[in-house]
Amino acid sequence: MLDLNHLFENIICFQAKETSDEDAKEYGYASWIDYCHKRNLASYFVRACPICGKPFTSENYAVGGHVLAALSKDKDGNPALDTECITPICNRCNVRADKLGFFNVKRIYLTKTPPKPKTLGSKKTKSPF
Ligand SMILES: [Zn+2]
Repeated sequence: MLDLNHLFENIICFQAKETSDEDAKEYGYASWIDYCHKRNLASYFVRACPICGKPFTSENYAVGGHVLAALSKDKDGNPALDTECITPICNRCNVRADKLGFFNVKRIYLTKTPPKPKTLGSKKTKSPF
């Protein structure tokens, strides 16, 4: 059975860094939001930013935000921010990464970052995949 409560559970997230769409191109996607939409259809239906709560508009459009998501728990049962994901956030929030705290994203809207492409140089950090 599909557990809808599980899919729509709020997951604690922390914005990892400002995302560069140039990086997404190295993975074969036009942008990180393109990656979200192609890998996770549900992300296409996100209509508002999970950080500021404002709806996406043509001026403040959705981009793929790079977050650390607490999809698992540590040994004490506390949320562990250990899973790199991409999720739709607004462009304004994406460019003020250093000022953002924690926020909630529904599990269904989180898309795990892709495995590192073989063509990437050694300057990139090691991928957990
Ligand atoms: Zn926002």
